[in-house]
Amino acid sequence: MSLPLRPAESELFQSLWRDQAGQCALCGKPMPSTRFHVAHASIWKRERPTFDHIVPRAAGGPDTPENLQLAHARCNRIKGKSQKGSDGRVRT
Ligand SMILES: [Zn+2]
Repeated sequence: MSLPLRPAESELFQSLWRDQAGQCALCGKPMPSTRFHVAHASIWKRERPTFDHIVPRAAGGPDTPENLQLAHARCNRIKGKSQKGSDGRVRT
């Protein structure tokens, strides 16, 4: 699967990437910015930066830039799974 980011998403991505200095909002570790920064596609699949909703959509979180942050695909998924309590909350 390729990553056909729409221009608006791509701009948002760049600005979030700058704000977060390329670090995951959930675990604080650096994320690879492109597939070519990692050795293998399977690593990219786990570690690629993804949009994470700070307030989850399921809880009524909006699709606005203020409610989005970048996180590893892996961290994003873990957060999604454990979103029963309040420990998925990250800074605004
Ligand atoms: Zn992470």
